[in-house]
Amino acid sequence: MICGIVGVLHDENKYLVKRYGSVKGIGKTMFLTWLCALDKTFGRRVITNYTTCFTEKMTLRQAIEKIKEENIRNATLGMTEFHQILSNYEKKSRKEFYSEFIRQIRKYNINLYWDSQLEGDINKTMRNETDFIWTTEKYHKDNNSLCVIDICERPHYIKAFKVRPEPYIPLPFCIDCEIFGQMYNTREILVRE
Ligand SMILES: [Zn+2]
Repeated sequence: MICGIVGVLHDENKYLVKRYGSVKGIGKTMFLTWLCALDKTFGRRVITNYTTCFTEKMTLRQAIEKIKEENIRNATLGMTEFHQILSNYEKKSRKEFYSEFIRQIRKYNINLYWDSQLEGDINKTMRNETDFIWTTEKYHKDNNSLCVIDICERPHYIKAFKVRPEPYIPLPFCIDCEIFGQMYNTREILVRE
């Protein structure tokens, strides 16, 4: 299964997912981490391209190599800033890469979860291969107001919404940032592939 988490949808969507403020710091990576943590509880091996307290860290390229070499099944890949990863691959081989990559992960029963600020930054082929697209919103715990500030020190919680394919479905509970924020370094600078 492939799931994406975005701040802004590719086209004008009737759900108007991002109406105000920043599309940064709205909980995309936190939700990504939450999905990965859930898979971990199901006994999956979880690999991320950022540091968490419960995953192995490697780049997407390294992860795919490892999956092939070690014949790994039932793993989950959590890839943040996915558009940056894709843009680093050479254009001429990108198309082959997508088909090869997708074929491999389906064959090996790998879950791929990615996040990106803009859905439109993700190649159409990749978007079409993505089974579910989610978005998130961040709220203040003290008064339930929407947080529109990228870097805000108040305590928050995250609401997540599945937006593609329709229908739009909100996750029926909230994710506490104070708890899940401890599972990864929210200020980590990513190493390029
Ligand atoms: Zn805030």
